[in-house]
Amino acid sequence: MQVKCVLCDQIEGIEDNSLQAKRLRNRKISMYLCATCDNRIKVSTLERHASGNFKLYQEEKEINGLI
Ligand SMILES: [Zn+2]
Repeated sequence: MQVKCVLCDQIEGIEDNSLQAKRLRNRKISMYLCATCDNRIKVSTLERHASGNFKLYQEEKEINGLI
């Protein structure tokens, strides 16, 4: 099946029988990220963990939950 990366709009082909394709069809995951963007997000997530901003984000979420 053909999938479009939600970040860079690159269209890629993935195996119909792959786990990722099944998840997309079952809507367990609703968006597809190409390898480049997936990697970029992983790196930025790790950087956020390292800088301590991740904790800040969680606190913000809790405040939003109260409203
Ligand atoms: Zn991408």
